Amino acid sequence: MIVMKFGGTSIEDARAMRNMCGIVKGRVKRKPVVVLSACAGVTDALIRCARAAAEGNEAEAQRILRREIVERHYDIVQGVLTDLGRQDRLIRELSAFSEELRHLLYGLSITGDLSPRVLDFVMSYGERMSTLIAASALQEMDVRAVLTDARACIMTDSTFGKAEPDLRETTARCQQTIRPRIAAGEVPVIQGFIGANEQGITTTLGRGGSDFSAAVIGAVLHAEDIEIWTDVDGILTADPKIVPDARRVEELSFHEASELAYFGAKVLHPSTLIPAMEKNIPVHIYNSRRPEAGGTLIKPRVSPTSSTVKSISYKRGVTVLNISSARMLGNYGFMKKIFDVFHEHRTSVDLVTTSEVSVSLSIESTPALEDLVRDLERHGAVQKQTGRAIVCVVGERIRAEKGIAARVFDRLRDIPIEMISQGASEINLTFVIDEKHVPRVVRDLHDEFFPRTGS
Ligand code: ASP
Ligand code: MG
Repeated sequence: MIVMKFGGTSIEDARAMRNMCGIVKGRVKRKPVVVLSACAGVTDALIRCARAAAEGNEAEAQRILRREIVERHYDIVQGVLTDLGRQDRLIRELSAFSEELRHLLYGLSITGDLSPRVLDFVMSYGERMSTLIAASALQEMDVRAVLTDARACIMTDSTFGKAEPDLRETTARCQQTIRPRIAAGEVPVIQGFIGANEQGITTTLGRGGSDFSAAVIGAVLHAEDIEIWTDVDGILTADPKIVPDARRVEELSFHEASELAYFGAKVLHPSTLIPAMEKNIPVHIYNSRRPEAGGTLIKPRVSPTSSTVKSISYKRGVTVLNISSARMLGNYGFMKKIFDVFHEHRTSVDLVTTSEVSVSLSIESTPALEDLVRDLERHGAVQKQTGRAIVCVVGERIRAEKGIAARVFDRLRDIPIEMISQGASEINLTFVIDEKHVPRVVRDLHDEFFPRTGS
């Protein structure tokens, strides 16, 4: 069996929905399990209407619900289904969802209390509506689709907003609910992004979490392949907004892809690869608008013939903190104290470089910054630089090939570079620059490692 996950833009309207059905139909022999996001923009709209309601603006909340959520799904139903009886049934089911949401918003406008638990429940409607329509649409195209509730499959802890799946229980549940359906020749259609805790209360896995759902389901069911269908040709050699002639990367190792997902490539949710990696299941990224484009294949190991540098990524909105203290000199325990502060503020550190008397760390911007700096100041003088960016040159064979660092820094001779780190796994070369240099740096490095061929 395989898992096929479609992102929001791959089911954003009737046309996309039909296209998705065609792609699934073409894969029926491989016994697919279909995992879906909400239709593009719907999760955001749900969050906006919940917030508006909780802020006391009920009229606005109900308007968003009607205009941006309910009507949107009705349009898709009318555009994608031809059987009128089926259309009717679906509209009735969707309007039941819409009624529930209407009441929820009313309740929120009275209590003003939008807890993470309630927000998760509100957000869950996006995936529940998209899968409801998709399952029907597939059935109309003679695919034996069965709508399967993710909350009966993915069991998580109770960290609302970023719940962690319990793999053991999730395995048992998927075996029980999904496996028999596949064996019977059916195609389960499951919501991405959502799950339920032990008490059956709805949770979500964090924004963009449908990729992760697909990987978890693929891993627990030992899928042969996990396919992530999106709206780009795969992972590219650089951000096409900066480098218009960036190319598709045909193959990446799990390690390379994880570095890229973490440092900015927006194609994959950073946690996605972990479950796949643990079970050695290849992950394919495909463009649902151009299935013939070939995509990117992510697999345990790269072929020895693949290029040294695979991609250049970046992450903006980085802050660098430099902590210096003479006490650090020849002393132990200093790093521990520093890291304890980050731990207390639940802030994760991306890069670390040290000298005898100072340590520099990079973090994503966080509202906790001021408190964090204040606590760090107990251990030394703290300098903070905001508006930085991390640039990351990724490739397994950087490890083996000499001279990559020299080429990078020679090319960027006149750009001030603030922290340099060659990842512990030696598959990336990472450094920090001022955000304003990002376009030039990414373009120059792309020219260096992916010179234009031809003329
Ligand atoms: N619908 C969710 C979101 O927008 C999950 C996903 O699309 O992956 O974050
Ligand atoms: Mg996504």
